Amino acid sequence: MRHLPYFCRGEVVKGFGRGSRELGVPTANFSEQVVESFPSDISTGIYYGWACVGNGDVHKMVLSIGWNPFYKNIKKSVETHIIHTFKEDFYGEILSIVIVGYIRPEKNFDSL
Ligand code: ADP
Ligand code: MG
Repeated sequence: MRHLPYFCRGEVVKGFGRGSRELGVPTANFSEQVVESFPSDISTGIYYGWACVGNGDVHKMVLSIGWNPFYKNIKKSVETHIIHTFKEDFYGEILSIVIVGYIRPEKNFDSL
């Protein structure tokens, strides 16, 4: 966890459209470019911290870094679920996050 706390800022892009639809937990995805800018040896798994969309308020967040074993992703993704109910989607906005702590490694599940 030597990379923590870690600050990151980037545009929210379209992901696979799975978060909200299948799980009820939308995750704001960073672009491939931002994902590649992460330290290459940062552990995959679930993290927590703070997040802010555009010039909005700061909220708690949970973050997934990795390959989402259940979905067998090929590309690594970095996805933020903000603990806040937004009135509308915010694709194209700038998301700023501070990763503060690590919760657990990635896990596979028997079902959605
Ligand atoms: P995608 O696969 O395109 O990332 P998701 O189903 O994961 O689709 O939904 C993510 C999108 O939902 C975000 O890009 C954002 O615009 C919107 N959204 C709404 N509320 C939240 C929230 N609380 N946390 C993260 N994203 C949210
Ligand atoms: Mg997503």
